Amino acid sequence: MAKLIAGNWKMHGLSAEAAALASALKEGASPVAGVRAELLVCPPFTALATVGAVLRDSPIALGAQDCHPAPSGAHTGDVSAPMLKDLGARFVILGHSERRTGHGESDALVRAKVASAIAAGLIPIVCVGESLAEREAGREEAVVSAQLAASLSDDFAAACGTVAYEPVWAIGTGRTPTAQQIAAMHALIRAGLAARFGAAGGDPLILYGGSVKPDNAASILALPEVGGALVGGASLVAADFLAIAAAA
Ligand code: PEP
Repeated sequence: MAKLIAGNWKMHGLSAEAAALASALKEGASPVAGVRAELLVCPPFTALATVGAVLRDSPIALGAQDCHPAPSGAHTGDVSAPMLKDLGARFVILGHSERRTGHGESDALVRAKVASAIAAGLIPIVCVGESLAEREAGREEAVVSAQLAASLSDDFAAACGTVAYEPVWAIGTGRTPTAQQIAAMHALIRAGLAARFGAAGGDPLILYGGSVKPDNAASILALPEVGGALVGGASLVAADFLAIAAAA
């Protein structure tokens, strides 16, 4: 199965910058250039239409970074899953640690968003991961298992949902877990999904995220447990994102 390399652009990119980045990715993302991975970019809501237009007829998929749990309603400032689908999004990142901490998102809210995304025909990428204090206390497996159990809706596996293991202490810090730590956590997540969803879970894609860069991508993506990468900072530089994809 091809690995999935997903770019989380976070709150970066006015429309002209977003269009330029998408064009550069479109130009560079070809098997001829050594890129065999599936590519996905998740721009901010405001650039989704622009980036979607640039990427039309390209192999690069479009995704969003969040959605509201309701399909519509009196929710000022929010964006629903059907609205994202309407703009051409295929994926949506949910439960990113920057939303869990910055917006106080609970596992229950993430689960409701996952259900809403699936109902709208989107593939959710659900982020889980421990803080540094939790890892130092040896609680990382308990924390991730609990997040996984409470953040996924019952139709998650049947809808080809994806999990991203993103240790909070590795995001934007330049620090990464060891290969053994990544492999162990991915194995734990896979076992958790298999126990809950059984055969309906198929072979779920589990991504690693947290300071993936061109110089560490090959060793992380070579791990058989790792189905791809969720990339923040390095996804804002076309050459870096493409180099990570070429390493997959
Ligand atoms: C992220 O925010 O999902 C992420 C992985 O960021 P970075 O690659 O910058 O650590």
